[in-house]
Parts: sequence; structure tokens; C-alpha cells
Amino acid sequence: MKRRPGVMLLQRAGISLVLGVVTTFGVAWFAVLRPWNSGWRGGMSMSGVSWWIKDRWGETSYQFKAMMPQSPLTVEMMDNAISAAWEDPGFEAAARDCRADLERMSPELVASWTRRRAGWPFYCIQFAETTDTAGVTRHQHLISLGASTEAQRAAGADDRRVPTGPMWMGLAGNIGVYSAAWFAAIGLLPIARAWRGAARRRKGRCERCGYDMRGSNTVCPECGANPSDDSPGDANRSRAQGT
Ligand SMILES: [Zn+2]
Repeated sequence: MKRRPGVMLLQRAGISLVLGVVTTFGVAWFAVLRPWNSGWRGGMSMSGVSWWIKDRWGETSYQFKAMMPQSPLTVEMMDNAISAAWEDPGFEAAARDCRADLERMSPELVASWTRRRAGWPFYCIQFAETTDTAGVTRHQHLISLGASTEAQRAAGADDRRVPTGPMWMGLAGNIGVYSAAWFAAIGLLPIARAWRGAARRRKGRCERCGYDMRGSNTVCPECGANPSDDSPGDANRSRAQGT
């Protein structure tokens, strides 16, 4: 029984979408599950804030810390940091995120703020983590597989922290990219192959390899494909048998 091509295409589009979602999360989680214990680079601002950035393929972390551990980060400090001249392109966006979080979280006394983003080609999942002036760490959208406190990580412990918070634009972008790639692979390639085969048949050439078969309508001498067979599987079998 032969399925209609439209239905088949729709099915393959659905499968591609599912595979696109799986690939999106697979890539993002792969990016954060690689061990990563060092590589922070940072600087200080005149406003009493120190900042740190770690980035590598598929993920980036930003951290802002009050330079005096007993004094919390404030919205005013972040305003100063934002208006200062920074050379890192991601810095300003992260500083604005931090400022927005501080506004929401107030009056908590946040001494350190961290955000990690993961995903490729776009960041699509993230977590936020804060440590207050008493040293208590709070997480948001985070599964910690290694050290659970800032102090442990500072001492070099396992730093695998998996973000679970969705970034909707990035999710849509990545799922779009991966679903399109899957669809190209499982949906469009067979169609393109069928078109090419039909074009070759019209020109009297072998459907599989394009060898000129005018005059001889038997098995292709180049690749062993038999024009009377419909499926390439049969052609492969007859080639394996040496016929
Ligand atoms: Zn051939």
C-alpha cells in the first residue's frame, strides 16, 4: 500500500519537529555538562562591583559581586556599572539583567549574582543564582550536579550547573534551526532523490549513478542498479550477490 506524498511529508515534518526539540535540549545540556572549573575572567568597576565572565562553546556565565562582602549589590551600583565603558559585548546585557533581578528581589541583600545561559546556535535555557550577605545561596531554574555553594566552587569543586529556565526566543530559534535540518535530512532528501532518479530515467541514464544506459536496458554496469527494481534495497542485494 502506498501512502500519499502529502501525508508522508506531514508525518516527516512532525517527526522533524520532535527531533528538533530533542536536539535543542541535547545540545544545550551537552554544553553545560562538560566539566568546567576554571576560566573566569573579570574586572572591577568604580561603583563597588566586580564582574566575572566565563564563556566557551554553547554557554556563558556572568557574575556580579559586591566588592565588600558585607555590603549588598544595589540597583544604583548596577546603574553605575551599566553606564561605565565596558569592552565585553555581553556585559551590558548581563548587567541589565542583574539590575532587573535586584529590583524584583529587593529588599533581599544580594552580595553575588550569577546567570548562566546555554544553547547553540542561540542561548535557550538559563539559570539565576544569588548569594546573600550572610552567605546563603539561592537558585532559580537550576539543577546542580556538582558543588552546591559558591564557596565550594571557589575552592575548585565541580561546577556543572544545569539551567532549566526557558528562554523562549532562543528555544524557538534553535528548535526552528534543528527541525529544519532534520526535515532536510529525512523529509526533503528522499524527495530530491526521487526527482533526480526520474530525471535520469527520462534521459536514459541509470537512476542511481547517472551512468548512460541507452541501448542496454539491463542491470547498470557501473553501480549494479536494476531499472526494473523499484527499491534501491533490492539493487544493493543483487550487487552484494555479484549479479
Ligand atoms: Zn548505475
